[in-house]
Amino acid sequence: MQHAVDHVVPATQAPPRLLQELRETLQRLRLGGPFYVLLWTLAGVAASLWQRSPMAFIAISLGFIGLTVVRFRVRALPEDSGEEAVRGRLDYIWLLLLVNAALWGAASAWLLMVAPEESARTVAAISSYAFATAFAHNFPMRLRHAFAAVLLLYLPTLAAMILSGARFELIGVSALYLLYVSLALRRSHAEYLQRLDLEDELRQQRDLFQQQSRRDGLTGLANRRRFSSALEEWSAQARTQGAPLSLLILDLDHFKAINDQHGHARGDACLRAFAGRLQAAFAGDEELVARLGGEEFGVLLRDASLQQALERAEGFRARLAADPMDAGADAAVALSVSIGVAAFHPHRHHDADALYHAADSALYEAKAAGRNRVGTEGDVASPDR
Ligand code: GH3
Ligand code: MG
Ligand code: MG
Repeated sequence: MQHAVDHVVPATQAPPRLLQELRETLQRLRLGGPFYVLLWTLAGVAASLWQRSPMAFIAISLGFIGLTVVRFRVRALPEDSGEEAVRGRLDYIWLLLLVNAALWGAASAWLLMVAPEESARTVAAISSYAFATAFAHNFPMRLRHAFAAVLLLYLPTLAAMILSGARFELIGVSALYLLYVSLALRRSHAEYLQRLDLEDELRQQRDLFQQQSRRDGLTGLANRRRFSSALEEWSAQARTQGAPLSLLILDLDHFKAINDQHGHARGDACLRAFAGRLQAAFAGDEELVARLGGEEFGVLLRDASLQQALERAEGFRARLAADPMDAGADAAVALSVSIGVAAFHPHRHHDADALYHAADSALYEAKAAGRNRVGTEGDVASPDR
């Protein structure tokens, strides 16, 4: 069992940019294979290789076909894969690419050495240059690996041209073109890194916005929007699955007077300190604390009956009343809170609004009964119940 858990949760999850590198490398890996088969066949036909050395021609053709199949069969990894797994998969892909490049380089060089036909030599040389160019543009993710692949594709062809007595100008142009391909590779690598940085930044901004759209700016608690969607979702579950769900709505007593007396900044400090206490008091996995607006807060408690919710609300109210708030500087501000409590009841509440309404009415009753107390609809006790 322990083993299975170890397997499911990777030690370090792969960062998004590494996953993106895998996705892009994989996509291009699949695309390339058939071109090697096609161009090798063309060059082989032009050089009448199947008459001259049928065994070698077939062996090399099978090599390219096999590599194409293997390239197609490399699988993607799930989004939550570990970093090591992703790196391992990328290493494997690069091994395939390098083997493929080496096979092309060797095959092309061999063809140039054994075939005197001009058309065959042209096909082999142009194909090598085309593959090297395509590689520099399509695989800029790892500079050194890509450079090695370009050299594997290119150098054997160049060497074979020299050895088989190609004209000096042709060799010169080929060497210059290799320089161009190397520079193009360097530039596309730099552009690739830039794009990844940009996409990283966009991802971070998106996450931040997402977080901000669900958080209250002053207290860091969930905001009303997040609260409403949890209330909807959990009420629906309470209705369909019969799971218990309780709701507390809390409103600070005479908070306007606190602002008037201590100033707005200290009022804000009080709200933050209050939020901290509320969050600490209702920190369970099945509990959600939110600032609904102004000096009004909400707490959703899953798996809590009405009685349990009332007891926890009363405990919180009593501790708050007994312990003045540290509002910064040397000010201790005495705060009290009124709390309305309701529990979801499938016959009485047909939706989330009805539950909210019940807790809100209870809060209203608690205020009307003199504040600093906890109540449920139709039953508000005095603070010393
Ligand atoms: P009670 O709820 O007991 O009836 O009295 P109250 O004075 O708390 O109620 P009321 O709704 O009249 O006033 C709420 C006050 O809360 C008004 C406003 O000055 C203050 N308030 C609302 N939002 C903020 C805030 O973000 N920061 C500060 N410092 N004060 C706020
Ligand atoms: Mg108030
Ligand atoms: Mg209020």
